[in-house]
Amino acid sequence: MAARTQKQRAVPAKARLGRALKRYGVPREDYLQRQETQAGRCAVCKFRAPILYIDLAIDGNLRGLICGGCRPYVATVVALGDGLDDLVATIRAYIAVPDDSYIDRNL
Ligand SMILES: [Zn+2]
Repeated sequence: MAARTQKQRAVPAKARLGRALKRYGVPREDYLQRQETQAGRCAVCKFRAPILYIDLAIDGNLRGLICGGCRPYVATVVALGDGLDDLVATIRAYIAVPDDSYIDRNL
């Protein structure tokens, strides 16, 4: 196996955080305050994750810190808005049918 190049080496957590704060324009003090407020846990599921991601509200303000597991769900809820209820209803109808008849009826 070939040795990793410098670019491929894992970025230390401190450097990764610094890059994220700069990219999203979040002051380090705000991040640290939020981290303390959330006791190092995800704002959604309360899991004490080793990495908590910056979650920005639509206005660009720091909404909270969330784990990698919750991140796609938060993005989906934000993206769908009022359409989320329709998606949930559709998925519930889909999983409630034990065979492929749901597909036959809805295509
Ligand atoms: Zn979470």
